[in-house]
Amino acid sequence: MGPLMEELPTPATCAGCGAFVPAHAAYCSQCGRPMHPTDAPAGRKPKWYYNQWLILFLLTPVALGPFALPLLWKSPRFTPAAKLVLTLLTLVWTAAFVWYVMAKAVPAIQNEMRGLQSIYQF
Ligand SMILES: [Zn+2]
Repeated sequence: MGPLMEELPTPATCAGCGAFVPAHAAYCSQCGRPMHPTDAPAGRKPKWYYNQWLILFLLTPVALGPFALPLLWKSPRFTPAAKLVLTLLTLVWTAAFVWYVMAKAVPAIQNEMRGLQSIYQF
C-alpha cells in the first residue's frame, strides 16, 4: 500500500493472552502482563539457586549435604521454622552418614593392614 500504512505503529502481540496491544503500551490491556519483561525491575524474583527443591536436593547425602546449609538460610523460600527443622535433619543424617562410613571403613582398613602384614611380614 502507501506510506500511510508504514507509518502506523506495529501492534505487538501479548505473550500471555495473545491480544493485540499498541506497540508503545507497557502492559497488556487484556491481562495486564508487562509487554517488555526486560524493563521490569530486577531483583524482584528470587535467585534460581534459592529454589526450594534444588536446596532440598543439595541437602541430601548424595549432594552437598551440610555445605548447602548457608544456601538454605539465605533462601527466602523457607520459613525460619522450616530452616531450623531442615538444619537439624541435615546434621542428624550427616552424623549418621559419618558414623556409617567410619563403621564400615575402619574395619576394612584394619583388615587390609592385616592382609599386608601377612604378605610383607612387617
Ligand atoms: Zn495479555
